[in-house]
Amino acid sequence: MSDQRSVTRSDLVAYCDAMLESSAFQDYCPNGLQVEGRNQVRRLITGVTASQALVDAAIEQGADMLLVHHGYFWKGEAAPLTGIKKKRLKALLENDISLLAYHLPLDVHAEVGNNVQLARLLGWQIRGGLEPANPRSVGLHGELETAQSGAEVAASLERALGRMPLHIAGNDRPIKRIAWCTGAAQGYIEKAIALGMDAFVTGEISEPTVHSARENRIHFFAAGHHATERYGVQALGERLAAHFGIEHRFVDIDNPV
Ligand SMILES: [Zn+2]
Repeated sequence: MSDQRSVTRSDLVAYCDAMLESSAFQDYCPNGLQVEGRNQVRRLITGVTASQALVDAAIEQGADMLLVHHGYFWKGEAAPLTGIKKKRLKALLENDISLLAYHLPLDVHAEVGNNVQLARLLGWQIRGGLEPANPRSVGLHGELETAQSGAEVAASLERALGRMPLHIAGNDRPIKRIAWCTGAAQGYIEKAIALGMDAFVTGEISEPTVHSARENRIHFFAAGHHATERYGVQALGERLAAHFGIEHRFVDIDNPV
């Protein structure tokens, strides 16, 4: 558009930090601005993970800022800026592109959060948090409009996310009450069991998850870490575009996990 507006980097970051209440979270990475680029933002690129492929796409598309769910500087990782870490950061810094990252705050948010967005995509009715006593519960529980078989839920996940989920049928009863948590939350199957859910959906699976699903007689679906976490960052990008009048594009770098 010809009258495309821009916003200062600091205004955009402050808006996101406030909206997502990022200072209220104990997280495994810094939330907010991770790499400082140019002062004005006209073109925003969003994506799930700040991989080299996404950084390269942002450069190619003339981005001023890259906004992601999985950024850098994770707890426990080696601090030195060597190898792929050096390459990614060098590319961002040389091109003066900011990196803005929100992890748990973007899972939990009541409007643009990954978990709310996944429920909207699948048509699931939200009833509460996976941890009912926690106001910032990562993961939700709710209901399907009408009870469906495990195979029907698997098919709806495949339609919505564009990939076949791995379904562990812990029983052959239909599913009405369902809990979910995007990403690598297979350990949270215990929380879904405690709530008496018929099914639990997350991104990834581990070997023990299969036994837990079978022995607790709950349906389990591993629907893809990347696939379940595509939607929060897109919703946030759309909101920023609407609020500030900037340009936004989501770039999907396919990931089979
Ligand atoms: Zn994740």
